[in-house]
Amino acid sequence: MDEVGPSLRYLGLAILAACAALLLAGEAGWVGSDISDQWFLPLAKVGGVCFLVGLGLSLLQPVSRRIRQGRCARCGAKTERGQSYCLDHLMATVHEAQDSIRQGESYRSRRG
Ligand SMILES: [Zn+2]
Repeated sequence: MDEVGPSLRYLGLAILAACAALLLAGEAGWVGSDISDQWFLPLAKVGGVCFLVGLGLSLLQPVSRRIRQGRCARCGAKTERGQSYCLDHLMATVHEAQDSIRQGESYRSRRG
């Protein structure tokens, strides 16, 4: 999904470049002017739409990425999707949890 915006933009640019080439070819007489006239507008429209949609997706992408991406509750570093801690602090939290469980066990065993 992350690659859709840029590839659509390049596709649109490629189609627009093909349009320009077609127009030049028509002007130069390499292609019949009826053919270049017939294909220029539809191709230009498709290329323009692809480019604009790709551009729009690319503009929206940082926003959606910011929404999707969490931040570490401790250091504020970017985290994987759905994670509330970065990898370092995730490990630290797990270790602390293990320690507290161990302490709880030893506390209970001392009392019991
Ligand atoms: Zn962190």
